[in-house]
Amino acid sequence: VTFEEAGLCETLARNVSRSGYVKPTPVQKHGIPIIRAGRDLMACAQTGSGKTAAFLLPILHQLMAGGAAASRFSEVQQPEAIIVAPTRELINQIYLEARKFAFGTCVRPVVVYGGISTGYTIREVLKGCNVLCGTPGRLLDIIGRGKIALSKLRYLVLDEADRMLDMGFEPDMRRLVGSPGMPSKENRQTLMFSATYPEDIQRLAADFLKTDYLFLA
Ligand code: AMP
Repeated sequence: VTFEEAGLCETLARNVSRSGYVKPTPVQKHGIPIIRAGRDLMACAQTGSGKTAAFLLPILHQLMAGGAAASRFSEVQQPEAIIVAPTRELINQIYLEARKFAFGTCVRPVVVYGGISTGYTIREVLKGCNVLCGTPGRLLDIIGRGKIALSKLRYLVLDEADRMLDMGFEPDMRRLVGSPGMPSKENRQTLMFSATYPEDIQRLAADFLKTDYLFLA
């Protein structure tokens, strides 16, 4: 699969080529079609593998091409995708990559992590946000306040899941995924990325992903 064959919508394809990406990396080549097909995915991928674009591109494509696009201009946008990563550096990179790919479209990413005021973040989300990026604790905090609608949520991405466990985020992740209003795994598409696949990650995958999830190594 080339980026052309991935069938990305025009603006997205243009932003990808402007980023200088010519050839998809293996995780993009194999991951994008799986995600486009609507399947849950557990992918073993290291930093530097191109995993960020592997999940962002198919999600952004769906958000741009999706039925909600027409109503975007009249309605306040609510989160359709939540992306979780362990550190502010990592989530900020993901957010900047999402902004770069969404440039010139009506898709609006917002990032939340410790150090940015919670009140400010909630206001930013309420102004309109369809891709909400954050660290586990801060996401749990703003979602726990009950002001952020999750009824439009379709995608949940857990990036560097093994690092999140190493950093002690398992309780926060579980509480986040079990938040009131969070769609059940049957009603969302869940993507997990991890450099390693030990037992605790397998357990997390079994709990968060649909039983027929695909595994990519
Ligand atoms: P990641 O593994 O997602 O952190 O990506 C690692 C780096 O590779 C980032 O700087 C990306 O911008 C870059 N990158 C990702 N995919 C491609 C690609 N297909 N071609 C060239 N560079 C890429």
